[in-house]
Formats: sequence, C-alpha cells, structure tokens
Amino acid sequence: MLLERETVDFKELKVLLKGKVLLNEPVGPYTTYHLGGKAAAFVEPKDVEDLSELLRCLSRARVPYLMLGGGSNVLFADEGFKGVVIRLGRGFHGIQIEGDRVRAKAGTQLVAVLTKAREANLGGVEFFAGIPGTIGGAVVGNAGAKKAWIGPTIEELTVVTPSGEVKRLRKSDYQYGYRHSSLKMSGNVLVEVVLKLKKEPKAEIERKVKEYFKVRRGKQPKTEKNAGSVFKNPEGNFAGRLTESVGLKGRKAGGARVSEIHANFIINEGGASAHDVVGLMREIQKKVFAEYQIRLEPEILPMGDWDWSEIRDVFWNVERKF
Ligand SMILES: Cc1cc2nc3c(=O)[nH]c(=O)nc-3n(C[C@H](O)[C@H](O)[C@H](O)COP(=O)(O)OP(=O)(O)OC[C@H]3O[C@@H](n4cnc5c(N)ncnc54)[C@H](O)[C@@H]3O)c2cc1C
Repeated sequence: MLLERETVDFKELKVLLKGKVLLNEPVGPYTTYHLGGKAAAFVEPKDVEDLSELLRCLSRARVPYLMLGGGSNVLFADEGFKGVVIRLGRGFHGIQIEGDRVRAKAGTQLVAVLTKAREANLGGVEFFAGIPGTIGGAVVGNAGAKKAWIGPTIEELTVVTPSGEVKRLRKSDYQYGYRHSSLKMSGNVLVEVVLKLKKEPKAEIERKVKEYFKVRRGKQPKTEKNAGSVFKNPEGNFAGRLTESVGLKGRKAGGARVSEIHANFIINEGGASAHDVVGLMREIQKKVFAEYQIRLEPEILPMGDWDWSEIRDVFWNVERKF
C-alpha cells in the first residue's frame, strides 16, 4: 500500500486518489501570468478525504508540494517544480449563507462569494470587487483593497495539515498583516472559510461595490496577463509612483513590460519568462533604492524550483520554504 512506503512514484497517485492527477503538466495556464515551467505532478483532489490521503502520502515520502489557488499572485519558475502542485478542484467550490455568516469552500472564486453576500444583504467584503482568485488564496495572503482586508472578517477556518489531519482554527489562531497571514507557507491547506459579515441595506452594498470597481477602471491593465501589484506599497508611499518617478514605466525586458497603465504591474506581453519579470523587478528595486533609499518588498510570490541564489536579492522578504 502506497501510504505505508517512504517513496512515491507519481504514477501511483492516479491509483491512490479519486481526483485528477496529471504528470509533467505545464503550470502557466493555471496562473494569471501564463508563464513558467512544468510540475512533475499536478493534482486536483476530489474532496477533503482525498486531499488528506494525498498530504499524508507526500509527507511520509518527504515529497515537496505547493498549493495553487487561482494563481493570481504567483510567479511560477521557468524551471518548473519537481514536486506536486495541488489545486482545489470542483469539490472545493461552494457557498452557504448562515445568518450573518458566509461559509465558503476554499476553491470558490472571490467574485462568487461577493455575489452571494450581496444577495443576502451582507456587507463587509465589497472590496473583493475586481480581485481575481479564490477565497482560499485571499485568506492566506490577507487580500484587500484601500484600507480594507479580509482578515478582520474571519470567524473560523478549516485546514488539512501536512500530516493529513483535518483541523478547525478559530479566528484567534489566524494572524494577519499587510498581504500576509500565519497560513502563508505553513504547509497547511485551507479547505473552508467562515466569514462574519454585517447586515446592510442592499443599495449601500451596491454603492460600495461600484465605488471599488470605479477606482480600478482605467488604472489597472485589463486584458494583459499579470499577477496584480508586484511590490507592496511602502509606508506612506506608492510602489507604482516610485517606479514611474525613476523612469521605468513602460520598461521592457524580453516578453515582460512595466505596464504603461500602472507602473506597479508587470505584464506578460506574450512569451515572457519568469526571469524576465524578476529582471524588471530587480531593476526597479535598484533604481528606487538609489534614488529614495526605499527597499521595495515584493508582493507576488515566487513558486517552484527557482535557483534561490539567483533571486534571493529580489525576494529578500520570502523565507525559502516552498
Ligand atoms: C488584475 C489583478 C488585480 C489584483 N488586485 C488585488 C488587490 O486589489 N488586492 C489584493 O490583495 N490582491 C490583488 N491581486 C492579487 C491576487 O488576486 C490576490 O492576492 C488573491 O487573493 C490571490 O488568490 P489566488 O487564489 O489566486 O492565490 P494564488 O495566487 O494561487 O496563491 C497565493 C498564495 O496562497 C497560497 N494558497 C492559495 N490557496 C491556498 C489554499 N487553499 N490553502 C493554502 N494555501 C493556499 C498559495 O500557495 C500562495 O502562497 C490582484 C491580481 C490581479 C491579477
């Protein structure tokens, strides 16, 4: 039996699991950047039981794995990944309204959560408007817009630990900060989220949603492939404004370009490599530091088998845990 052994042949996952198992699968199409190499195995577990079984097996054999949500905040390595990329498939989509609480499976799209909350006259997540990705990814990264974050709405979380145990977390077990939470790089897979929202008149909710959409309109690239803000905004400043002021708006490297619409977005114009994006990030960091002595901190996350010695200077804020 696979679980009892300390090695794993990825082909055997097809026998062990009920969900989808793809070998040597390009990961780019599962990310909004559409770039990067292949994963040795790409798995979409069918349900929580399937996911527990998978994690137990991988942990026992010490096979590295990484979680992908909607892939809208990640930069996947050109070198690919020799381990297993896990994505939550259809079995992890679904929303239930329970009074002033929204219970959502972690693979559910943020926009779907916003729609259901709005229908139920529940306010507090209007800032989801225009943020792609899953509710799981949003909780892990404490996604937000302007001064609103998802963190304060969290009531309860369910995770599957690396050893396959299903665990319920209270809100006090979840710490969060600017685009950060205690779940990031923890190895736990988030499978369900309960948000506590507040009853509000529908018209007021609609007004706020429209406002969030309006702020984005024309200020962010719409059709070009990107992963949102590349850098976090430094205290009291804006990464895009700093990038523009050092003359790098529109700067090109290979197939990547600093967006003409918003300089904190780097777009894949087609055929960009992950290294092209890192090259531009490095150039921006160097120029901004030389001019303002501000060290820009990446917001996007490098994933996969990067040569860490090549990118450590750029991703100085990331612990090497992926
Ligand atoms: C056009 C555009 C606009 C954006 N605007 C915003 C914005 O205004 N505010 C903002 O905060 N972000 C923004 N983003 C970035 C991104 O959409 C958010 O950070 C989003 O919450 C990421 O969710 P995801 O499902 O795509 O996660 P991914 O990018 O797939 O993953 C992000 C991290 O979460 C982890 N993860 C994902 N799912 C799980 C899970 N179930 N269990 C454990 N770990 C998991 C991954 O391992 C990774 O570390 C934008 C992106 C784009 C492309």
